[in-house]
Amino acid sequence: MTTVTCPKCGTENPADAMNCKNCRVNLKYALEHLVEMEFAREHPDMFGLVGQLQRAEEQQSQEKAKEEKEGIGSYIFNLVLSMMFPVVALWYGPKYLIKGEYVKGVLLLGIVAVELAIAFSLQS
Ligand SMILES: [Zn+2]
Repeated sequence: MTTVTCPKCGTENPADAMNCKNCRVNLKYALEHLVEMEFAREHPDMFGLVGQLQRAEEQQSQEKAKEEKEGIGSYIFNLVLSMMFPVVALWYGPKYLIKGEYVKGVLLLGIVAVELAIAFSLQS
């Protein structure tokens, strides 16, 4: 069986391993970043910190991208729904406001206000 030596800690891993079984580093990444791995061996604490920061950042940007994607899709959906059913806007409008997305919330509630205004003016 072929093995690959972890550039970070020197442990032998199966050639098809995704992560080092000892230090859990991503082997593909490690093999492409030998200089950083060299640095990591000499400064284990610093690398741990940098790695954590990188992971946190990566996770954050992934979550943000996901949220934005879902957010826009569901917002347009809510917007269309609100035009047909004002009660939807009354439900979601405050939710957006609570989340700090004031523009979206105000716009939704604005639709309701306009609809109510039209409804009242038609009645009188
Ligand atoms: Zn390792």
